[in-house]
Amino acid sequence: MDIKKVVIIGSGTMGSGIAAHLCNAKVPVTLLDLKTEVSLAARDRIYKSRPPLLIDKSRINNIKVGNINDDFDTVKEADWIVEAVVERIDVKHDIYEKIFKNRKSGAIVSSNTSSIPIKVLSEKLKDEEKKDFCITHFFNPVRYMGLLEIVKNENNDLNKINSLKKFCEVELGKGAIICNDTPGFLGNRIGVYAMQVAMTEAMRMKLSIEEADAVFGRPMGIPKTGVFGLYDLIGIDLMADVLKSFIKELPDKDVFQNVAKEIPLISKLIETGYTGRKGKGGFYRMNKSNDQKILEALNLESGEYFPTKKIDLGIETVDINKLIDRKDKYGDYAWSIISQIIKYAASLVPGITNKFNDIDEAMRLGFNWAMGPFEMLKSIGVKRFFDRVDDFKGNKFLENLSKNKDENFYGERQLYTEIETLGKIKPKAIKLDKNKSADIYRFKNFNIVEFTTKACALDYDSMDALKNATDKPLIIMNESMQFSAGVNLTYTMNYAEKGDFKSIEKFIKYFQETCKHLKYSKYPVISAPSGLALGGGEEVAIQSNFVVSHTNIVMGLVETLVGLVPAGGGCKEVLWRWTQSREAKKDPDYAPMSVFNIIGYAKTATSPIEAEPFKFLRPQDKRIMNRNSLFEEAKKIIEQNTNFVPPEPCKFNLSGKPLKEKMIKILEKLYNEKVIFDHGMTVGSELANVLSGGDTSIEKTLTEDDLYKLELESFMRLIQTKKTQERIKHTLSTGKPLVN
Ligand code: NAD
Repeated sequence: MDIKKVVIIGSGTMGSGIAAHLCNAKVPVTLLDLKTEVSLAARDRIYKSRPPLLIDKSRINNIKVGNINDDFDTVKEADWIVEAVVERIDVKHDIYEKIFKNRKSGAIVSSNTSSIPIKVLSEKLKDEEKKDFCITHFFNPVRYMGLLEIVKNENNDLNKINSLKKFCEVELGKGAIICNDTPGFLGNRIGVYAMQVAMTEAMRMKLSIEEADAVFGRPMGIPKTGVFGLYDLIGIDLMADVLKSFIKELPDKDVFQNVAKEIPLISKLIETGYTGRKGKGGFYRMNKSNDQKILEALNLESGEYFPTKKIDLGIETVDINKLIDRKDKYGDYAWSIISQIIKYAASLVPGITNKFNDIDEAMRLGFNWAMGPFEMLKSIGVKRFFDRVDDFKGNKFLENLSKNKDENFYGERQLYTEIETLGKIKPKAIKLDKNKSADIYRFKNFNIVEFTTKACALDYDSMDALKNATDKPLIIMNESMQFSAGVNLTYTMNYAEKGDFKSIEKFIKYFQETCKHLKYSKYPVISAPSGLALGGGEEVAIQSNFVVSHTNIVMGLVETLVGLVPAGGGCKEVLWRWTQSREAKKDPDYAPMSVFNIIGYAKTATSPIEAEPFKFLRPQDKRIMNRNSLFEEAKKIIEQNTNFVPPEPCKFNLSGKPLKEKMIKILEKLYNEKVIFDHGMTVGSELANVLSGGDTSIEKTLTEDDLYKLELESFMRLIQTKKTQERIKHTLSTGKPLVN
């Protein structure tokens, strides 16, 4: 089965997201709604979406639009028709009748329903039609969420389902998991239950919203939105509808019912328009007082809002054991919710799937959890879990495990895919070394470095791991959300605040030395980024010999936003790439001026396609839709480069003073137009100094080391200014750069 053309019916949140993603996969797609205006507006929304649903905005017109009356003939040519209309069975049934009358023989028809069982969806279909009908449950936002749940019916042509799965895996890059026809399938059944447990337990145990979100967040391997933040993001009203559907669909004795009951505080929030981020606010709201925006949180008892309080649990990375072992209310809360989630998930095997492993993977892909309930159990330890857990009678999975106490019950990871993923090979690889910021693995004849810090921020230890791992071909990649958000600014500021600039200098020098080493070492170095590759993260990637990039990367040298210049070779490497362009051969200032513009404005790319014009990525760098395939692709490069020869060192001829003056003129214009201010002038002038080559002239040839030195000197001058330190502190405390 070849999927060459797709029609999507319903151009709301999901239909438009799926259409955008098919466009990303270069599959011709038509989006139909009740009226063409609606699908046209949807296409406009796709174009303007942030974060962008499209990898390449210039392809927007490859999404054709129309309406279900005048343009239904498009269905006749489609190989796959996706129904994504409102969650109403009567509407869906009418649509299926029309689709099956018109579709070409053998074309697949699927529904994106989140809550209607396939039994009910397909009850009016003939057996022959059922063969080609299934549920394809995508998650929002489609481009970014890895999970796709496929639900079959008893009549399905299994070959067809498997080729659809393959298509979604390879072309759309989804983790496609086949699951049973049960309410909420895998992801939502466990994910929504977990949210409800976290919320109701926070209320029962009298934790504040901020406290609950601090626990049910990063330390548990759950995104930092936590539970209440996620509620606001999804929409409190939408969650109420989801819960109603679960209450209706699930048996009375299902423990989900205990946590799904209507809560008066929530009903009141909905009634008064506090539906979350899209409404007036929700559990959190932004309030304005004296022209200042203040983030407030709801007091769960009084229903009043108060400025948020930062909760610091002192746990930086995922550490469930540290959390549940605490002898305070946070420890009690963590244990209560984790144990209930594990118990519930275990009670659903084999009902919702006979592969418990798939539940964990669904939680990773659909909810961005670092580990699912069964991995949590593994990480706690079987014996430890049973020493502490209370009643689990009737829970077959736990009863068995409590008898055999098999600490190795877990087995392999990611059984839903045949791809050789990093997650699958890690347990088979030898852990060569580990420090507090990275792990080094040896697999076959090569090494893998995985950063392990929060957002994979880089410090001295991260560099040490990279440097030590170049004795073999090296793949730099990780399983967490980000490749690397850049240099660890907290680490840098700790030194700055003590006035210990020598240590900062030592670190930056080591950063440079390591990146140079990556580029010129005897064996190939491959970076396989996904998520953020910003600042130092980008510097590591672009000074690797090869890049295999996930299509969802965000790349940029954003150092100027915190009052710094890239100093790990970022200026040097991007400048070098620009000097290789045809235009640069004619005009020696072309390359530095272009890079001045890119780094000065901290331009970022939200896909490999956008990264190429900035020369953050090169045409030969690979772009991969499925994150799971990054490892295989990187490995292929090692296999193809057994006779690897490191690149020639690069040399620069830069104009020096006259070029710097040209750049300063641009800065002065921006200053006069109040686009930049005093410190912007300082930072811009330092950048100009680096990119013009400092005290040089066009005849003089500069080496990479000369450029590294200029980067270091500028960085050191800037980090010692009060203004840069203020900017860094502001970014660390708010997560956002200081504007002006
Ligand atoms: P939505 O309300 O945003 O969009 C539904 C669209 O369907 C609207 O544009 C509407 O005009 C159109 N429509 C209604 N009747 C139609 C008809 N007869 N013919 C053509 N178009 C018609 O809904 P959504 O959030 O995109 O949800 C669509 C489906 O996806 C639902 O089944 C929902 O359960 C499921 N789903 C939603 C999410 C989510 O996060 N929103 C996630 C997964 C699955």
